[in-house]
Amino acid sequence: PEAEKIIDGKAIAATIREEIKVEVAELKAKYGKAPGLAVVIVGNRPDSQTYVRMKRKACDEAGIVSFHKEMPEDCSEEDVLQVVRDFNADPDCHGILVQLPLPKHMNEEKVLAEISLEKDVDGFHPLNIGKLSMKGHEPLFMPCTPKGCIVLLERSGVDLKGKNAVVVGRSNIVGMPAALMLMKKDCTVTVVHSRTKDPADICRRADVIIAAAGSAHMVKKNWIKKGAVIIDVGTNSVPDATKKSGFRLTGDVDYDEAIKRADMITPVPGGVGPMTIAMLLSNTLDSGRRSIAN
Ligand code: NDP
Repeated sequence: PEAEKIIDGKAIAATIREEIKVEVAELKAKYGKAPGLAVVIVGNRPDSQTYVRMKRKACDEAGIVSFHKEMPEDCSEEDVLQVVRDFNADPDCHGILVQLPLPKHMNEEKVLAEISLEKDVDGFHPLNIGKLSMKGHEPLFMPCTPKGCIVLLERSGVDLKGKNAVVVGRSNIVGMPAALMLMKKDCTVTVVHSRTKDPADICRRADVIIAAAGSAHMVKKNWIKKGAVIIDVGTNSVPDATKKSGFRLTGDVDYDEAIKRADMITPVPGGVGPMTIAMLLSNTLDSGRRSIAN
């Protein structure tokens, strides 16, 4: 039955958050200190505000201390850099998250590179990405969304070794790190992007597909090998007259058709989305443990 094929990201993320809560409590009991996460938000984009609120609530529930820094849209890049430096120096803060996108007059890469390597819980620092790509090296942190995809596969019992994996998308925050992580897990990885010739043919050879293109339903039924496992990162807003808001969220995969061919698949919403926050908490816990238990 199709229901058994669904990878329930919401449930897996909830389990992980419970596990984190227990470990945070143990750290606190043993060392009298909990991990701390600083969240920096610049400007008042409603979507960013929502994400930040969700992250802070998740911290509270797990017993992780969260420091909130809200800055006006018209502040300077130097102001943001100074806030990052202050958190870099704060021993109670073990992770720093700068909510993206930043206002256009700021250089995002410069701000992200200012975050101390040891507190880079988003895993976007060039050195952490570099280590992810090197044999014999491990990054201190891995980016949360692609890490969430890998954990979903592992917790669903998928053996990745030697599998053909296709990642659709090559962005710095999802596609590229997802491909590197799959390679580290001994997959044979192919990356599909906007210049790829015949993406359907490439996807049809995949045992595992991670779809992160941001293009609604681009991965069709006849792109999928029977028995493939599909992780759908896409979060696309499409018009839906039956919804009060007038739209609904949908993935990069034609789910209703794909579930008939795939062995396992993540829904949107309720698949990768909830895992991103769980991985942020997990990275913060790792960082806190490294610092507190030392
Ligand atoms: P980007 O727009 O930065 O990257 C999209 C990538 O997909 C690019 O590499 C692009 O190729 C490729 N691509 C786009 N269209 C096609 C196409 N038609 N055929 C082949 N390749 C294509 O997006 P992100 O990586 O930031 O995000 C991807 C999706 O994941 C989005 O829907 C986003 O909302 C979602 N997302 C979900 C998260 C979550 O659930 N927590 C977190 C982050 C993202 P090229 O490089 O050639 O331009």
